[in-house]
Amino acid sequence: MKETPFPAVALPDTDETRQALIDACLWMNARHLNQGTSGNISIRTDAGILITPSGVAYEALTPDAMVLIPLEGMPSEEGARPSSEWPFHQGLHRARPDMPVVLHAHPPYCSILAVQRRAIPACHYMIAAFGGSDVPLADYALFGSPELCANLARIMADRHGCLMANHGATVLGETLDKARWRLEELEVLARTYLFSSIGGQAHLLTDAEIAEVLVAFESYGPRPAVDT
Ligand SMILES: [Zn+2]
Repeated sequence: MKETPFPAVALPDTDETRQALIDACLWMNARHLNQGTSGNISIRTDAGILITPSGVAYEALTPDAMVLIPLEGMPSEEGARPSSEWPFHQGLHRARPDMPVVLHAHPPYCSILAVQRRAIPACHYMIAAFGGSDVPLADYALFGSPELCANLARIMADRHGCLMANHGATVLGETLDKARWRLEELEVLARTYLFSSIGGQAHLLTDAEIAEVLVAFESYGPRPAVDT
């Protein structure tokens, strides 16, 4: 496996962790950050990557239904099928071992920008929650494809979130709470950017202003102590 500059972080594979994945799925649909079974979430554990199954209504999910896939190579042919997006989850866990949570969804405003193939520039200081001065747009590729995996791994090398052309959005988290926080903030940023061009023009922050926020953000966001 390719060496990365990031320390690897893994969460324990317990019923509590599995239930937290289910709770996050239900939460993102209840908050209109996703619809149906379009979204999928994974957590890196000591035993491999724990990911939501393919095509099961979130309301019907149980801790046993979560699928464990390896960090490298194909998932097992036996048992429940992992989310069809397992390739890019696996790719992101390998590219960013410092971020044990990968959360993918189809949030409405993020999806509108993604359809317009627009990245989000530094229109608001909260952009720094994603690691830099923008939330980039990953190139389009077929869902579940190795190309989509490569596109996301490349663009997320130094970002904690991205839009995905003609598709949706993906965020990373040091914890599940932080991933949930970023997903909600990303959808607000997308809405803010979209509407800020109505009746005016978005005024962007400078690189120096964003650099200042990045330093302040080192201790910002939900604390790990409240995460599962
Ligand atoms: Zn999707």
